[in-house]
Amino acid sequence: MLEITKRHIKLGTTIVRCPFCKADNDKVIDSRSSDGGRIIRRRRQCLGCSRRFTTYEKISESFKLNVVKKDNSRVPYDREKILHGLQKACYKRPISSEQIRSLADKVEEDIFKDSDKEVSSRFIGKSVMDHLKVVDKVAYIRFASVYRNFEDAGDLILEVTEEFRKDEEESNGHGFGHETLRDN
Ligand SMILES: [Zn+2]
Repeated sequence: MLEITKRHIKLGTTIVRCPFCKADNDKVIDSRSSDGGRIIRRRRQCLGCSRRFTTYEKISESFKLNVVKKDNSRVPYDREKILHGLQKACYKRPISSEQIRSLADKVEEDIFKDSDKEVSSRFIGKSVMDHLKVVDKVAYIRFASVYRNFEDAGDLILEVTEEFRKDEEESNGHGFGHETLRDN
C-alpha cells in the first residue's frame, strides 16, 4: 500500500517522523532537487510501518552541510564551487549553462540522498565525474585528470582554473575534440 503525504521541513534541522505511526526511522527511496538546488524532494519509506511519504526539504540559511576534506578538516558546503568547477571543465565545450545547472542539480541529488550533515570531497568529485562523463567526454577528462590529484574541492577548483589557462596557451586555437581522444 502506497500512501504519500507532503511535509515541508528544513533540511538537516528536523527529525523526520512518519506521519502515520510517528516513528523517526525511515529510509530514503528517492531524492530530487528542484528550485536550483534549494529544495530537496525525498521519498521515504517508514521502517516502522512500511508506508511511504514525501518530504520537501528547503535548504535554509541556517542549514549547514560540511564538506569533509581528505585531512578531515571541514568546510561549509557551497553549490557555487560545484558550478564553478563545472563551468571550468566545460569551457568552450558545447554545453549550455542550463546543462551545467542540471549537472549541479544531479550532483546535489547524490549528495543529499545520503548526507544531511557531512559529505566527503571525494564523494562530490566522484559524483561530478560520473555525471560529466555522460554529457561530455572532454570536460570529463579535464575534470578527472585534475581531480585525481586533489581531494580538496577548493584546491581542485584553483587547479582546474590554472589547467585551463595552460590549455588555452598551449592549444592556441587548435581543436581539442573527440577525434583526438579516440585516437589516443
Ligand atoms: Zn510509520
